Amino acid sequence: MSDLNPFRNAQAQLDEAAVILGLDKATHELLRWPMREHRFTLPVRMDSGETRIFHAYRIQYNAARGPTKGGLRWHPDETIDTVRALAAWMTWKTSVVDIPLGGGKGGVTCNPKEMSEREKERLARAYIRATADLLGVDRDVPAPDVYTTPQIMAWMLDEYETIKGHSHPGVITGKPLPLGGSQGRGDATARGGIYVVREAAKTRKLSGDLSYAVQGFGNAGQFAATLHKEILGSGKLVAVSDSGGGVYNKNGLDPQKLVHHKRETGRVGGFPGAEPISNEALLELDVDVLYPSALENAITGDNAERIKAKIMCELANGPTTPDADKILHKNGVFVLPDFLANAGGVTVSYFEQVQNTYNYYWTLEDVHQQLDRRMTSAFAAVHAMSQKQKVHMRLAAYLVAVSRVAEACKLRGWV
Ligand code: GLU
Repeated sequence: MSDLNPFRNAQAQLDEAAVILGLDKATHELLRWPMREHRFTLPVRMDSGETRIFHAYRIQYNAARGPTKGGLRWHPDETIDTVRALAAWMTWKTSVVDIPLGGGKGGVTCNPKEMSEREKERLARAYIRATADLLGVDRDVPAPDVYTTPQIMAWMLDEYETIKGHSHPGVITGKPLPLGGSQGRGDATARGGIYVVREAAKTRKLSGDLSYAVQGFGNAGQFAATLHKEILGSGKLVAVSDSGGGVYNKNGLDPQKLVHHKRETGRVGGFPGAEPISNEALLELDVDVLYPSALENAITGDNAERIKAKIMCELANGPTTPDADKILHKNGVFVLPDFLANAGGVTVSYFEQVQNTYNYYWTLEDVHQQLDRRMTSAFAAVHAMSQKQKVHMRLAAYLVAVSRVAEACKLRGWV
């Protein structure tokens, strides 16, 4: 049975890297735990007049390389351990793409699908009232994640600036464009992932019309479906799924029409000209590229043996458990690990902060070019490490990222 606690899995991944890196005991122990964690109990007035209590978190995992950075996830299954794991992965993510930031994450246990816009606004503002003194452009900078949006970032920015009495656009990223958002932030996670798929395909000598399947149809999944063809020049989308199930057509699905169908009906199911497929079966399709783009623990010791994709590009955070990783590696599945594959989002968040600081804004072409450069060199560093140490790509990504964070901790005299 796979361990499904994401934080224990994040620690286990680090432990493996720590042995190869020969980390001393203190550095290893320091990096196994968040340096700060905060919990909040937020009373929020609902539209019915009733007051509901929400449990919320902000974890500042490690700030050795710069202010902590990471999204806010609003999900019914959020716990302190999911947020801890996500905060650890943010620390490795900012490091692997070599941006001068640390790692953090926040979460609220709630179901945004059952909340009105006004209720979401009140929750967003309550969260900022609780955290305002912990945040700051030079402290900790949130961003969107699962079920949080540019509009939620806008309410949060407004609440923060109202409390502080100053303009601080860089305190939060993923903002709408008129409030200091960056061009290209919306699709950055998927775009960055496809840039590394392009690089991976070169090293695997894969070319032509690559078939692909997308599990999860939120922000990352929808853009992966549409951008794969655009960036790689060709491709055949054969299946997509969301939490309600999936659709499949071996001859190909039209990504734009699927996005439209999802927006109109709220689900991918029922898409004309496609057969239904379960989430489990989608993951096991014989495709060139699989994009797990939903939540943690999609690929475990139970199904890893049946994964047939040649390249797996993890747009979700934590979709693969450590025992599954070993099986995928043995079977020759080339895994682009989450904190490398989905680092495009935080990379463009960093560009957004830079633009906010200069109060000067880049063109979309500038953003794409800079993102491509960062993702391509991160891939090259990880791939070179995997060849040098003869380890799979996740372990190689850990070796690159953890050694940089460990060095920063040492230079500061912490260890
Ligand atoms: N939530 C995204 C992630 O997991 C983006 C974080 C950010 O932009 O700070 O990488």
